[in-house]
Amino acid sequence: MPAIRKNFSLKDHNSFGIDARTALYAAPENIEQLSDLFDHYDFKTQPYLVIGEGSNILFKDDFEGLVVNPGMRGVDLIEKKGEELLVRVGAAENWDQWVAHATQQGWFGLENLSLIPGSVGSAPVQNIGAYGVEFKDHFGWLEAWDLEQQKQVRLTGAQCRFGYRTSIFKAEYPGRYIITHVAFRLNKKPHLKLDYGPLKEALFSSRSPSPMELRKVIISIRQQKLPDPRDFGNAGSFFKNPLVARTIYESLKINFPEIPHFQDANGHFKIPAAWLIEKAGWKGKRIGNVGTWPKQPLVIVNYGGASGKEVVDFSERIRNVVEEKFGLLLEREVNVI
Ligand SMILES: Cc1cc2nc3c(=O)[nH]c(=O)nc-3n(C[C@H](O)[C@H](O)[C@H](O)COP(=O)(O)OP(=O)(O)OC[C@H]3O[C@@H](n4cnc5c(N)ncnc54)[C@H](O)[C@@H]3O)c2cc1C
Repeated sequence: MPAIRKNFSLKDHNSFGIDARTALYAAPENIEQLSDLFDHYDFKTQPYLVIGEGSNILFKDDFEGLVVNPGMRGVDLIEKKGEELLVRVGAAENWDQWVAHATQQGWFGLENLSLIPGSVGSAPVQNIGAYGVEFKDHFGWLEAWDLEQQKQVRLTGAQCRFGYRTSIFKAEYPGRYIITHVAFRLNKKPHLKLDYGPLKEALFSSRSPSPMELRKVIISIRQQKLPDPRDFGNAGSFFKNPLVARTIYESLKINFPEIPHFQDANGHFKIPAAWLIEKAGWKGKRIGNVGTWPKQPLVIVNYGGASGKEVVDFSERIRNVVEEKFGLLLEREVNVI
């Protein structure tokens, strides 16, 4: 049975640094401890929340329930077939430490996802992505506790229905599964993805980098562009980039001829939310303790002492000005609790 802490502070468990508390907190280290929890807390009728490192969560208020922080650790190479590898990793492993370890071992594929904050167990939830690579591109399967069936299950990529910053864990079944382990498909031969715009520019002098060099370049770009949550509380991109149909993109282009876009595989037009926020005049804007980051307006920052409500109110004002100016409703990427 894991220790259950009472009236527990979540300040060090969310990257916004919001001083929220939870009535109960437990960090089960294995499946036995996790299933023991179900005998002591009624998940069917009482509120609960699963967290990793809290880098995509904004606590608006204290949490009147049980916060579960899965503590399963370990990295196991479980299959080798020619160049292909399958590696199973515990949910509590830190994402970037896992990427560093894989790259050092010569298990390639995750380099572009370097320095994304958070844990391995949370990566499937919003199908994390950066610099032209998504979590799903190297996904094998995952193991999770299914609270509906009351048993441990294994889910394939098709079952997880990964999409742009989404999956069943975020869309169809939030709260149903507690992810305990993730298996990755990696390769002993590097197949580097270098064609993402800002990456191309940064790699100008090194046209055929090694995977470790690519990782270092990505870390350096991210450190230049994004605020470190240890200095300024934030949860990375606050909003998703809106995906619109061609007709909407073309009508926006009449009034805003310079509007940038990327076309996705389904023919949708992805408009950078950072551009919309900047054109609406909210780049580097600050109200009290909350503001948009001057180098990347998609990131909302707690400059110190902000409450969760202040951050939410600030984000709502951004949504309103963007909707008024462009007729597009920004959807949150961050989970507001
Ligand atoms: C500076 C900064 C930069 C970022 N850059 C990126 C980026 O480039 N790309 C990107 O995709 N994201 C980015 N993010 C967002 C964040 O890093 C990811 O969403 C990450 O996966 C969150 O991990 P976490 O462990 O902190 O999850 P948490 O914030 O703790 O949880 C996130 C969600 O997952 C659920 N969850 C957590 N663990 C589990 C589990 N074991 N089982 C079931 N559900 C669970 C939670 O309930 C919550 O809904 C950034 C964040 C920051 C602060």
